[in-house]
Amino acid sequence: MPAKKTANKTRRPRPAAATHRKGVASRKNRTIPISVFGNVLKQFDTAARKLSLDRSICEFVKIPRRSTIVNLPVRMDDGTYKMFTGYRVQHSIARGPSKGGIRYHLGVTLDEVQALAAWMTWKCAVVNIPFGGAKGGIVCDPFKLSEGELERLTRRYVADMIKLFGPEDDIPAPDVGTGPRVMGWFMDTYSMKENHSVPGSVTGKPIVLGGSLGRNEATGRGVMLSVREAAKCLKLDLASTTAAVQGFGNVGSISARLLHELGVKFVSVSDVTGAIHNPAGIDIPALIKHVEKKKSVLGFPNAKRIEPEEVLFANVDILIPAALENQITGDNAARVRCRIVAEGANGPVTPEADKILERKKILVIPDILCNAGGVTVSYFEWVQNRMAFAWTEEEVNHRLEEKMVAAFNDVMKMARDHDTSMRIAAFMLAILRVVEVVQLRGIYA
Ligand code: GLU
Repeated sequence: MPAKKTANKTRRPRPAAATHRKGVASRKNRTIPISVFGNVLKQFDTAARKLSLDRSICEFVKIPRRSTIVNLPVRMDDGTYKMFTGYRVQHSIARGPSKGGIRYHLGVTLDEVQALAAWMTWKCAVVNIPFGGAKGGIVCDPFKLSEGELERLTRRYVADMIKLFGPEDDIPAPDVGTGPRVMGWFMDTYSMKENHSVPGSVTGKPIVLGGSLGRNEATGRGVMLSVREAAKCLKLDLASTTAAVQGFGNVGSISARLLHELGVKFVSVSDVTGAIHNPAGIDIPALIKHVEKKKSVLGFPNAKRIEPEEVLFANVDILIPAALENQITGDNAARVRCRIVAEGANGPVTPEADKILERKKILVIPDILCNAGGVTVSYFEWVQNRMAFAWTEEEVNHRLEEKMVAAFNDVMKMARDHDTSMRIAAFMLAILRVVEVVQLRGIYA
């Protein structure tokens, strides 16, 4: 029986999440979408060429292991049924269970999910945690769905994919458009199948369901730590630097807040609703409060409204793209003016843009290092769930700092030894770690 029509259905207001439009490349007056998975393959090939590895093993490790597509019926609040497409791509299980978030966004495609899954494999290897890579996504606008619709969509997605998931198999987490609430429904649906609670089936859960202290801010904290280490390398005093951030969701707002605490002056901030600028510096904690209330950075006192893309070209020391892929492309990279690009988002800089930024001597801290704090604390959450013992926030943050600093130094050393960018160095390090495991395990072929 369809549910009764609800006359005054409450739509949740659209928060200022990082839902910027994905990049396109213009060629001969035509705009064509840039293949995100194509970008990962280019990054992989450039790094693999610098390592003398067996070519057939490289072919094996670069391609996703399994891609699953489901079409999900969901009963809407008005009693009708609507179909949604969902994906889960498991890229690698060589180093451990596959790990990676679930994205709810209208721009989700198989190409994008494959790319994000591959980046998870390389990211987990860079921070040296025992996971492979995966990613999931549902094509939807979560801010246009009611709480009940979101819950039914989530449960149906988990139910249709249930055989793929499990604490030893594949462990989801939040990504763009999802958060602890969705992870709670995930954990419950998975646990119903097992007939007991399985907290280790998902990370990024609410704390009372077995979530880890420090997980919510872990990605932003990792970005802050990466920027801090990069500033040391460039002999920049953070307290006298300026910054701009594109995207003011979980990653953008928390990395800005933590860097603001270290004295960094943020002059430009954008979110999906628009962008603001104040050369004297934006009070980030006050902006976070403003966004909680108004769901937009716009209207923040003492800041003038600017075009959103201007944020990428701000004359600052540190630029943090923390929205979506393909933001800095071959078409606009020449206009970027900062010293450090810290990739809070996955894939914000295309391989064509990388070449231009390298020529301009801009240090790019690649996504698979810079935003790896999230999955690192997801790993800590999974470890705590296995032990049924919770660490203090100080312990989580301390272990995160150790992991991030070690990974940063490993990547920097590789970059210096091979005279290459941090992106290619991070890929080289990750590929070596995955290939070593594959060679020792052998390929069952
Ligand atoms: N979605 C996040 C990422 O892209 C976190 C993944 C996780 O914690 O498993 O890294």
